[in-house]
Amino acid sequence: MSLWKKGLKELSDLIQSKEVKPSEVVSAFVERASELEPKINSYVTDLSQQAVEEAKKKDEELAKAESIPPLFGLPVAIKDNISTKGIKTTCSSKILENYIPQFDATVITKLKEQGYVITGKTNLDEFAMGSSTENSAFFTTKNPWDYTRVPGGSSGGSAAAVGAGIVPAALGSDTGGSIRQPAAFCGVVGLKPTYGRVSRYGLVAFASSLDQIGPITRKVEDAALLMNVIAGKDPRDSTSVDREVPDFLSYTGKDIKGIKIGLPEEFFVEGLDPQIKEIVLNAVRQLEKEGAEIIEVSMPTTKYAIEAYYIIAPSEASSNLARYDGVRYGYRAKDYKDLEEMYSKTRDEGFGAEVKRRIMLGTYSLSSGYYDAYYLKAQKVRTLIYQDFMNAFEKVDILATPTTPDVAFKIGEKTDDPIQMYLSDIFTVSVNMAGVPGISIPCGFKDGLPVGLQLIGKPFDEGTLLQVAHRYESLSGLSDKFPGE
Ligand code: GLN
Repeated sequence: MSLWKKGLKELSDLIQSKEVKPSEVVSAFVERASELEPKINSYVTDLSQQAVEEAKKKDEELAKAESIPPLFGLPVAIKDNISTKGIKTTCSSKILENYIPQFDATVITKLKEQGYVITGKTNLDEFAMGSSTENSAFFTTKNPWDYTRVPGGSSGGSAAAVGAGIVPAALGSDTGGSIRQPAAFCGVVGLKPTYGRVSRYGLVAFASSLDQIGPITRKVEDAALLMNVIAGKDPRDSTSVDREVPDFLSYTGKDIKGIKIGLPEEFFVEGLDPQIKEIVLNAVRQLEKEGAEIIEVSMPTTKYAIEAYYIIAPSEASSNLARYDGVRYGYRAKDYKDLEEMYSKTRDEGFGAEVKRRIMLGTYSLSSGYYDAYYLKAQKVRTLIYQDFMNAFEKVDILATPTTPDVAFKIGEKTDDPIQMYLSDIFTVSVNMAGVPGISIPCGFKDGLPVGLQLIGKPFDEGTLLQVAHRYESLSGLSDKFPGE
C-alpha cells in the first residue's frame, strides 16, 4: 500500500522498526500534495520543500539514534492560528498577513521534542470565525470529495489536507465545532479535547473560554497518538488542567461491551437531514450489536446553544481582537491623520466582514445596559447546558449524535446568510459550551459525500470516546476510503 495512504501510527511503527526512512514518508506525502494541493488549496504557507530537507536530516539522526519518540520524522500540518516560531502565522487575516511569531505554541514545542516534520500552515476562516473557510482573507479551500463544495471550517485546510491524503495528520482548533465539522465534511477523524486538556498557549485567541486545540487525523489511533503528545498541564496556560494524562492508545482495541451510549432526542429533530439521521442511527445500531447499551436521553437546554454561543463567543472575540491596533502586530493603514484614525483605518482595512460582525455583536452584548440582557443571560444558559450534559452523564457513559445536520454544502451557498452558516454548528457548539470532549468519525456517505458521527464524553474522558470510535472504525472500514477511488 502506498505510504501516503497510511495513518500516523502505522507510519510511526514503520519508522521505529527502521523499515522506512522519514524522508521516504515525507516525500510520499509531498508528492501526493504536488498533485492535489493545486486543486484543494489547503495550505496558506506550503512548507513541502523545507519538509523534504528536514526529513533528510531526520534520516541521519535516525541512523545514529538508539531510540526515537513516536512522532519522529512524521509529517504533520498545523492550522495557521497556532504560533510557529519563525514561520508566518496569519490566522488567514490581512491584519496578520506578514506576522512571524517569535515563539512556539506549547503544542508545537511538544511536537518538536518528538522530532516531527511540519509540512505547512493550513487555511482557516479568518481568526477561526466561520464554518467553511470562505471567510479566509486569502482563498477558499476545496472539499477533497467534491471541489465545488466547502471543506467545512474553520479548520477546513487541516481537514481537507488529511482527507485528500496530502498529510496523515494535522492540528486544528475548535471553539464551536471547528475541528469536528470539517472532519465530518472531509471524511476524517477530528477530536476536540476537554477544555483545559491541551494548552492554549500560542493559539491565537478567538473565544478563550471555548477554544481548544486538537488532532485531525485519518484514523482514530492517530488521534490517540497525537493526544499522548499534546495533552497535559502547561504552566504557561492557567486554564490547562493538572490531570493525569493516560496512554490514550491503550483505549483503542478494547471491546465496548456494557458501555452505555445516550441518544439525546434534541439532536435528532427537524433540521436534520433524514438520510443523515438514518446513517447515524445505523452506526449506533452497529455499536449496539457490539454490546453497547443504547439509552434515550433528553437535553432540553441544548436547543438554545447556538443563540447563547453567538453572544458569548463574539463577546470574548471583541475583547481578544482589541489587540490588533496597528501598533504591536501586523498590518497598519498607510494614510491617517492621527492615532485614532490609524486605529480605525487599520482595523477597517485589516479585518474581513465576518470578523467585524463578531466584534460589533460582542461589543454590543458587553456594553452597559445590554450586558445583563444578553451576556449575563447567555452565561446562565451556558450553565444550564452544562447541567444538561452532567444529568445525561449520570445515566450514560457517552452520547452519540450526528456531527452536522447535512453534508458539505456548495461553495457560496451560505455566504449571504450568516444565520444559515451559524446553524451548520448546531450539533457541535453545545459541546464547547459544556467544555466536554467530542470526536467526529466517518460513518457513511450521502450522495458520495462523507457523513460524521459525533461521540461526546464526560470531562477528561477522551479515552472512552477513542475506545468506542476505534471499535466503530474497525467495523466500518471507512478510514481506508479516499476521494476519487
Ligand atoms: N463556526 C463556528 C463559528 O463561526 C465555530 C468556529 C470555531 O469552532 N472556531 O464561530
